[in-house]
Amino acid sequence: MEEAVLIILGLIVGSFLNVVIYRLPLEKSIVKPGSHCPACSTPIKFYDNIPVLSYILLGGKCRHCQARISLIYPAVEIFTAFSFWLSYQYYGSTPVHTAFTILFFCLLLTLAIIDLQHMILPLELTIGGAVVFLVYSFFNPFLDPKNAFGTAFGGALVFAGLYFFYLRVRKIEGLGQGDIWMMLLLGSFLGLNKLVIAVLMASFSGLMVGLFFIIFKKKDLKLALPFGIFLSLGSYISLFWGSDILQFIQSLYR
Ligand SMILES: [Zn+2]
Repeated sequence: MEEAVLIILGLIVGSFLNVVIYRLPLEKSIVKPGSHCPACSTPIKFYDNIPVLSYILLGGKCRHCQARISLIYPAVEIFTAFSFWLSYQYYGSTPVHTAFTILFFCLLLTLAIIDLQHMILPLELTIGGAVVFLVYSFFNPFLDPKNAFGTAFGGALVFAGLYFFYLRVRKIEGLGQGDIWMMLLLGSFLGLNKLVIAVLMASFSGLMVGLFFIIFKKKDLKLALPFGIFLSLGSYISLFWGSDILQFIQSLYR
């Protein structure tokens, strides 16, 4: 029963995240006006705005102008619902921590897709989120404030160092400035161990995708991949399975 409620709530929140993902980079209000078709600007009726279901019923097209609706919308809704359920599986015994895990996930997903579409990581989400999680660290049963603050600022400092290294020595923007602030957010909730796993996962997946583009799409090495996507992906994996991965690595050295 609780799980069904949580999944429905996840679909609704996912639908809200779609609004944030679409409007925040355009500096539009998130609350007003109601949803419009991006192609023909016709207001979307509430019965055409039901998560996932409306997409299927409308065949992925606007009722008025027949413009294709991006698959990203229902995908975000389904993935959000799944992640709500997953957070509950891991932290269901501590409802407050489940809620903060869900909030952290929402930020990861929103940042990843905005970075994919616009190559930016809005500071409202990275720094804003970091402030919330640093305050929460005083109440977080899984992370003490010293670890949260140290990891957040340490991680940001390391990335700032890398950023200037790339800029000065290699004369390229190897990292975006947004990635520095994203580290602040990630460290404030993941803590040191899980942040290290997250960055390892991010680098590995970034490298794989980069190689794929170089080998199969014949792009050159300077191709800029938005690293925020990989930081999000790595953090998602680390958020839920970081402890297992760490245990596995430690078992190799025993
Ligand atoms: Zn339309």
